[in-house]
Amino acid sequence: MKAKDIYAALEKTAPLYLAEKWDNSGLQIGSRNRDVQKVLLTLDVTEAVIQEAIKKNVQLIISHHPFIFNGIKSICVDSGKGELVSQLIKHDISAYSAHTNLDSAKLGLNNFIANQFRIKEAQPLVASSSDQLYKLVIFTPQDYSQKILEVLGKNGAGVLGKYSCSSFRTTGKSTFKPLKGADPYIGQLNKVETVVEDRIETIVSRNLIKTVLPIIKTVHPYEEMAYDLYPLDPSISKNENGLGKIGVLEKSVPSNEFISEIKNILGLPFVRTAGPIPKKIKKVALCTGAGAEFISIAKLKGADAYITGDLKYHEAQNAKENGLFVIDAGHFGTEKKVVYLLEEIIHSAYPSLEIIVSDNVNDFFDIY
Ligand SMILES: [Zn+2]
Repeated sequence: MKAKDIYAALEKTAPLYLAEKWDNSGLQIGSRNRDVQKVLLTLDVTEAVIQEAIKKNVQLIISHHPFIFNGIKSICVDSGKGELVSQLIKHDISAYSAHTNLDSAKLGLNNFIANQFRIKEAQPLVASSSDQLYKLVIFTPQDYSQKILEVLGKNGAGVLGKYSCSSFRTTGKSTFKPLKGADPYIGQLNKVETVVEDRIETIVSRNLIKTVLPIIKTVHPYEEMAYDLYPLDPSISKNENGLGKIGVLEKSVPSNEFISEIKNILGLPFVRTAGPIPKKIKKVALCTGAGAEFISIAKLKGADAYITGDLKYHEAQNAKENGLFVIDAGHFGTEKKVVYLLEEIIHSAYPSLEIIVSDNVNDFFDIY
């Protein structure tokens, strides 16, 4: 199997357009076309992970955290990052990362952990801008309306909750004058034409615009397709992808019980908390990794508890001031299970591929 087939399987669940602008998800180093028989899954690409990959004859390492995050200005192979780059290239091992695209994906890491916490009706805590909806209006001769509607529907426009192919159509008159050099479908040069056209309205999410519009242009008969495209209010979103999740537990749980459960599920010796501890918890927000920036949003959305990691001192103060109970289960603690999600995704696409979870998924912090 080619490496690119495995990247494609990952990107089906976690498309790269979902990655944050500052992120560096995708292929980090190596090949798209190399044959892969064995894959190693990890949270971070460390020296220990690379040694393990070499020892176990792995061709591809898939990590959550990008191997190359900040720009590299030089590669000195004697030590540090340069040495790791050199080891990977020498042993023909590729490294690929599914980072914030996997965090934000509808069935990504936050969804995976939310399911383990048994959070129901989970929705994104912060909807992805790629899910923002746009109104697309296309003006077309009436005999082309049906064809254009079909192509719109086939390419994902007009999806509204559990409905697809949604549209609205009105008929009116349009005018235009073909100028010198034009090759009009209807009308003559230098003569204002008035024709009856349909105005087809539908909605399309931002990530689809780049694919839907060019396809429609190939079907539309006019040399210059007239269309409008305008963003709807951000509150009108597909609301499927996005950072974090918020949802409800089946029943209210006493806070102490909930904290114990989180520690059990994530396999942690302790968690830190900040903000006022409620008697019971029903509505839970979650953001794996570092999600302190969403404390106010979690509060605004009515969470009784917000689970995240990497809380700094003044972010704990912010939790207290916002009156929100925040559970800091650690950056590592909330993300270490990502390897099992990666395993699920790749295994369901390629059941016969050998997939190994690294023995070196470790926290960079030690506890004394
Ligand atoms: Zn992380």
